Amino acid sequence: MVNIVLFGPPGAGKGTQSEHIIQKYGLKHISTGDLFRKHLGEGTQLGKEARSYMDNGKLVPDEVVIGMVDETINEHKEAPGFIFDGFPRTVAQAEALDKLLADHKTGIACMIELDVPQEELKKRLLERGKTSGRADDQNEEKINVRIGEYLTKTVPVAKFYAGQDKNCKINGVGSVEGIFGDIVKAMDTHY
Ligand code: AMP
Repeated sequence: MVNIVLFGPPGAGKGTQSEHIIQKYGLKHISTGDLFRKHLGEGTQLGKEARSYMDNGKLVPDEVVIGMVDETINEHKEAPGFIFDGFPRTVAQAEALDKLLADHKTGIACMIELDVPQEELKKRLLERGKTSGRADDQNEEKINVRIGEYLTKTVPVAKFYAGQDKNCKINGVGSVEGIFGDIVKAMDTHY
């Protein structure tokens, strides 16, 4: 099993690159943002718990996210590996993920970080907001809260993986194909 964390701020291109990675490597995609949006759409209890955090651009509490990821991993035990997209977003989540994977006798092979300057992120998110219908992409204030959450709570996760010598930073500005080419080079050292 080869498990990858695709890491980066909101608007870095994690969703777009995940699609390419899944196609090439056949990994199971676990996007916590997508899973939460599914719960919101279906009106589940978990969706109700997550809604106010999401609508305001804040992170959903760790125990809620970790429980949801645990359940998803258990539902896909046969997968050849997982690509985690938008997770872990706190050090507590990263530690919990290591434990969850250890229970399945596996671990994270590498963390791929997409590096994009803040001004470019805001531009991309506002542009996406025109068509995504996502409440959290609609105005600059919410986007600033999301970037703030990233800087305070998520950036330390990069250090966590650097401490395990698993981080790989990639320039996230350029063509989708060019960035994917750099991701493939990084991934192929683990295959
Ligand atoms: P995303 O689609 O990854 O940008 O996530 C959308 C929203 O879902 C975030 O702004 C958070 O409110 C919530 N969310 C997604 N993943 C996580 C996570 N790993 N930890 C906490 N909240 C999350």
